[in-house]
Amino acid sequence: MHREDPRRRTPRTDVVLADPLLAEPRARLGDAIVKQAVSRALERCRAGEVTPEDVPAAAHAALPAYAASLRRVVNATGVVVHTNLGRAPLSPAAVEALTVAAGATDVELDLATGRRGRRGRSAMAALAAAVPDAGGVHVVNNGAAALALVTCALAAGRSGRRDVVIARGELVEIGDGFRIPELLESVGARLREVGTTNRVRLADYEAAVDDDVAFVLKVHPSNFLVSGFTSSVGVRELATLPVPVVVDIGSGLLAPHPRLPDEPSASAVLRDGADLVTASGDKLLGGPQCGLLLGTAELVESLRRHPFARALRVDKLTLAALEATLTGPVPPVAAALAADPAALRARAETIAAAIGEVPGGVAEAVDSTAAVGGGGAPGVELPSAAVALPAPLAEALRLDDRLPVVGRVERGRLLLDLVAVDPADDAHLVEAVRRCATRCADRCADRPAG
Ligand SMILES: *Cc1c(COP(=O)(O)O)cnc(C)c1O
Repeated sequence: MHREDPRRRTPRTDVVLADPLLAEPRARLGDAIVKQAVSRALERCRAGEVTPEDVPAAAHAALPAYAASLRRVVNATGVVVHTNLGRAPLSPAAVEALTVAAGATDVELDLATGRRGRRGRSAMAALAAAVPDAGGVHVVNNGAAALALVTCALAAGRSGRRDVVIARGELVEIGDGFRIPELLESVGARLREVGTTNRVRLADYEAAVDDDVAFVLKVHPSNFLVSGFTSSVGVRELATLPVPVVVDIGSGLLAPHPRLPDEPSASAVLRDGADLVTASGDKLLGGPQCGLLLGTAELVESLRRHPFARALRVDKLTLAALEATLTGPVPPVAAALAADPAALRARAETIAAAIGEVPGGVAEAVDSTAAVGGGGAPGVELPSAAVALPAPLAEALRLDDRLPVVGRVERGRLLLDLVAVDPADDAHLVEAVRRCATRCADRCADRPAG
């Protein structure tokens, strides 16, 4: 090689930035992101990996697709509501609604009169229509916020009643170290635990309720199962107590689901006599992150007007996505829960055939067992199908730069479970596996030489 020292020919940053190739990305992504890509390309130029003429193209090739670094991934884990993958994926209708709402929008304006309108009225109307048993509805930032607001309004307010009665078997840790009993105490409630880990009776509640008790809280054990010598008290019995009954159903099912017989729904719990129900919007409802509050008109109105409610207020994007989830086509979570195992198996066969041979084996369609996940329906097994591949492909697929695919490794094989994969992504799945297989093959081929 008789090239001139590349360090001397390395262009200046401002010269590269002015290259016409980078004009459109600068407008779309902003200068800071483009500058970073240019700096990296210049480093590669100094190292002799890129010619000075190719620096703008190298910077352009390394640009991210969006200004944010959260990336779209394919959920092939077989866990329908995967917390680490952002829980519920939104329906196309919800995505469109929040894109429209991202600009100036009539979230709090009545266009007919030109005056202030009630914030999120159409989303609230959609929620009320979906749960006719609720006299009132309200939405806050997440399930934990819903519980915090109820507790603030009922147990930390001016009533002088600070105690919350809760069964010992329902002192739930939700995830990431957060615990419901600590959440209640953090906003000023005093817990009055009743029963034991495995059993509680109505008499335990009756003995605990006195003038200091603000409400009885029933929490759905949404992420664990207790079996054996157990008993708990149903909402219908709790409703005979002389204080409000609040039920945290967790997963946000609005009506009973045939495949999830043990998962409580807002409608059923209200019909059984609960005064208030709290739930998440981004679990089984399949909507955006939010906390649902449903209950008697009077209690819900007092929550809505509580000063703390302002600190938990949802934004316009959430309201838009929630309304579209409730009124629009079946969201992905509901579609996954209703998936026909034979149809999943047929997709797996097609995908496996299209992938064919990969380093270390051949793609194969297999039956699989999927889970609901995300703090819902623990123990429920969903019959599903998957494409089985050699386990070493798991990392390569996760690190794919175009479309990361997250599967699960089971008994030494990588399974790409299709229950939560949009059929529209099947072709992308095939392409991603092929890309990774090629890369893996190259690396394996390099190894003996290197
Ligand atoms: C998930 C869950 C919560 C917390 O809801 P977030 O929306 O995550 O804040 C509270 N209670 C139960 C029973 C849950 O399952």
